[in-house]
Amino acid sequence: MAGDLAILGGEKTITADGGEQWRRPVEAEKAAVCALIDEGYLSGSGSGVPKEFEERFAEYVGCKYVLTTSHGHTALASGFFAAGLGAGDEFITPSVGYIGSYAGALHMGATPVFCEIDPETLLMDPDDAARRITDRTRVLSPIHSCGRVCDMDRLLALADDRGLVVVEDAAHAHGSEWDGVKVGNLGHIACFSMQGSTPGGKPVAGGEAGIVATNDRELYERALIYCHLHRPGAVQELTNPVYRELEPQLLGWKWRPHPLAMAIGLVSLEHLPERMDRFEANREALFRKIEGLPGIRPVCNYRKAKGVELYGGIRFIYEPEALGGLPAARFVAAMRAEGAPLNGPGVGHMEHLRSIYTKDLPGLWGAGHDGPANVPLPRYREGDFPVSEAIRGRVLSYPGHIQAADGFIDQFAAAFRKVVLQHQQLL
Ligand SMILES: *Cc1c(COP(=O)(O)O)cnc(C)c1O
Repeated sequence: MAGDLAILGGEKTITADGGEQWRRPVEAEKAAVCALIDEGYLSGSGSGVPKEFEERFAEYVGCKYVLTTSHGHTALASGFFAAGLGAGDEFITPSVGYIGSYAGALHMGATPVFCEIDPETLLMDPDDAARRITDRTRVLSPIHSCGRVCDMDRLLALADDRGLVVVEDAAHAHGSEWDGVKVGNLGHIACFSMQGSTPGGKPVAGGEAGIVATNDRELYERALIYCHLHRPGAVQELTNPVYRELEPQLLGWKWRPHPLAMAIGLVSLEHLPERMDRFEANREALFRKIEGLPGIRPVCNYRKAKGVELYGGIRFIYEPEALGGLPAARFVAAMRAEGAPLNGPGVGHMEHLRSIYTKDLPGLWGAGHDGPANVPLPRYREGDFPVSEAIRGRVLSYPGHIQAADGFIDQFAAAFRKVVLQHQQLL
C-alpha cells in the first residue's frame, strides 16, 4: 500500500489534474451566434434557427413533435398544462426533487404530492407513487435525475391503469434511453432544460432554454397554445377545431426561446453523442477498477435504462457498515485529501422539507398556507419520507469526465483503494 493516508499527513494519491479537459467548440458557437446577429434574427419562433433546432432534436430523439421554450421551467409548465393539470388537481413528484421541476404546476394551483425515491436507484419509486394516487391525481412527474432513467414500464403502466398523464422531467436526460428508445420518444410528454454551458450545464445547453417532446398530437397542440404567443403559422398548424378558434396570441404566454440560445444549442446537440460516449467510457473504466471494493458501490440503474451523468454527476452508495462504521463525511474528507473530486454525502433537495411546506410563513402569499395560486399547500415534516431522508447520508458523487487528464482515472481508483483498505486508521 502506498504510504499513509493524505488526511493523516501522507502523500496525495492523485497528482493528475482532476478538472474536465474537454473543451467545447467555442469558435463554432461564435460563428453561429454572429450569423444571427449579422442577419438581425434575434427574436422569433417557428422559423430559422429555432425551427431548425426543433427539427434536429426531433430527429435525434426520434419523436414526432418538439417545441422549444425559454427555460426547462417553462417547458415543464407547458407539459403540465398540456396534461390538463389545473387548480385543485394533484400531481406526484419525488420527494428528492426540485421546486423548479414543478413550479409551473404549483403556480397553476395544483397540489404537489411527494413520493419516495427507490433507495437503490435514487429515482421515483413507482410503488410508493401508486400508493399516493387519489381521485384528484392527474399527473405523474418522474425526474430522470443525472440522466438516469426512471422505471418507465412501471410508471406508464400505472398511468395507463389510473388514467394519468406522465410529464417527465428530462432536464438531465437528453440522449438517455429506456429499452433502446430515447427519452422524449417513449412516454406521453418529456420536458428538457438547456440551461448552462458545456461542460457542466444541461447535456444540451444553450445558456437558457427548454424543450418539450411528445408523440401525442393533442399534447403538442396544448403545449403550443399555452406558451407560443404570435408563433407564425401556429393557428393554421392546429388540428383541434376548438384551438383553431384562438387568435394568434393563443393563450398569452410568450415563452419562446431566444434564437441565440438555439444557435448555441444546435452546436451542443451536435457534440452530445461524442460527449456521452467518452463520459461513459471513463465512467466504466473507473467502475471496473473499483469493482469489489467494500464500502462503496455505484448506484443501481434499471436494467432497461441507459444514460450518462453529464449533469449532476456519478453517484455512489456508501456503506459505512462495511468500513467499521466510518462516517460518510470522514470518508469523503479522506478522499478529498487524496485529491479526489468526491462530494457528499447528499442526494439533492428534500422537497417536502422546504419552508413553504414546513413553516408558518404568514404574509408570503396571504393567510394560512396558501400557495402562489392562492390554493392551500400541503403540510409536511421531517420523518414523512423516511427512505428519502435516510439515503441522504449515504450518497456520494463525482462529476465525471468527458476527458480526464492522463492517469487521472487510475489515480482516482487508487485513492478509493487506499482509503478503503486503510479505513481503520480513521476510526
Ligand atoms: C435545470 C432543471 C430544471 C429547470 O430547467 P431550467 O432550464 O433551469 O429552467 C428542471 N428540473 C431539473 C431536475 C433541473 O435540473
